[in-house]
Amino acid sequence: MNNHIELEGPRPCERRCKSCKEWKHHSRYHVKVGNSTIAKYFDSVCRDCRQRERNEKKNADRPLAIIRNRASVAARKAGTTTDFFMVQMNYRALVPLMRALMSEEGLCLGCGHAFVNERDIHIDHIAPPRNPKDWARLHARNLRLTCGSCNGTKSDKKHTDWLDEQEGARISNLVLQSKASENQGDGYISRSGEFISTADPQSELFSESDQEPESAPFHGGFQTSLNFDD
Ligand SMILES: [Zn+2]
Ligand SMILES: [Zn+2]
Repeated sequence: MNNHIELEGPRPCERRCKSCKEWKHHSRYHVKVGNSTIAKYFDSVCRDCRQRERNEKKNADRPLAIIRNRASVAARKAGTTTDFFMVQMNYRALVPLMRALMSEEGLCLGCGHAFVNERDIHIDHIAPPRNPKDWARLHARNLRLTCGSCNGTKSDKKHTDWLDEQEGARISNLVLQSKASENQGDGYISRSGEFISTADPQSELFSESDQEPESAPFHGGFQTSLNFDD
């Protein structure tokens, strides 16, 4: 005989969500219209599920979302619209580039290192804009995507000067590398090209480029940091 009485059943104030199948208080299904504080009707799906749907939609094309975001920042500085930057300034052409750089194979064109995270992908002006509405230099044809440390070495230098400087750094790095292999175990070459001697305890201090990344790396769950609440 089974006289078991179900005590854990839904309460009269609860409804079942079509999406997550959980029973939740009816207030979790209220849909308000406009500025009204009174619920107009009940949704068949709970608010938590609706929020998750919105987040998934926004994260579906993360490279597009990032480029639109950068376009909107640039637009605000120039006193124009995001769409002007996407179409007239051709920022939409950056979307497939961003997608490639965010993939497993993405490398910085400047230094050949992998990006630390999506915020490490900087949009850099080859020729610096002369004023906030310098459309000739704000256009995507004057842009390139580099890592934060490459962008840092560029700042407002002339592009040609920066190219020569980078080539000089590459050569001196080769020299340092051969010196390091001659005195094996005495040091290593830092990312900025300096020879760091491990015999000197001061050198244990991290240089700027060796610091911990601000947010989680791409590979291994970077999606977790991409929540949009509205
Ligand atoms: Zn639900
Ligand atoms: Zn780089």
